[in-house]
Amino acid sequence: MIKDIKNIFCVGRNYALHAKELNNEIPTSPFLFSKPTHSLVEANGQSITLPSNQGSVHFETELVIHIAKQFESGMKVDEIVDSMAIGLDLTLRDVQSQLKQKQHPWLLAKGFKNSAVVSDFIPFPGVEACEQLDFSLLKNGERVQVGNIKDLLFDLQTIIEFTAEHFGLGKGDIIYTGTPSGVGPLSDQDQLSLNWGGNEIGSCSVTMG
Ligand code: ZN
Repeated sequence: MIKDIKNIFCVGRNYALHAKELNNEIPTSPFLFSKPTHSLVEANGQSITLPSNQGSVHFETELVIHIAKQFESGMKVDEIVDSMAIGLDLTLRDVQSQLKQKQHPWLLAKGFKNSAVVSDFIPFPGVEACEQLDFSLLKNGERVQVGNIKDLLFDLQTIIEFTAEHFGLGKGDIIYTGTPSGVGPLSDQDQLSLNWGGNEIGSCSVTMG
């Protein structure tokens, strides 16, 4: 599945409480960045190696949508999205803070190898059904983040149209739609469970390499 993924787009600051917890302003238009495809890794029970010598690696748990076809004007979310996953937009937080100070791009903090974790992709049930279920991350058995796309500042339709307009959007692209509050650091041997509606659809452990 992940070998067919083309572009990886990510939305920043798309939940008000998360923007606040990092002392960021709430954006007035969607805020996007991307990751290289080499950053992709599946949460299929395996151990994932992360950098140990560049400061803290934060988890950001996000609903990830998979695009089924070329976007055309007027297309609705339920037509263009065929599957979804729960993902981790892993972030070198200390590196990101330094990059922000220097007003440099975020690639070093967001695009490192294994920084784009995805669970299994499951059929997309539609926006309305999605809003009935929460996604969450369990770290060593404790629920550390929970989110629901009904709290998005920019909803899926807006994100899709914005991405298509500025970058193009087509079959095989995925979008990380933003993280709710509760982000935090990972440690060696952490066990992670990615949940959708209370069911685990991805898991992995962490090796700080
Ligand atoms: Zn994120």
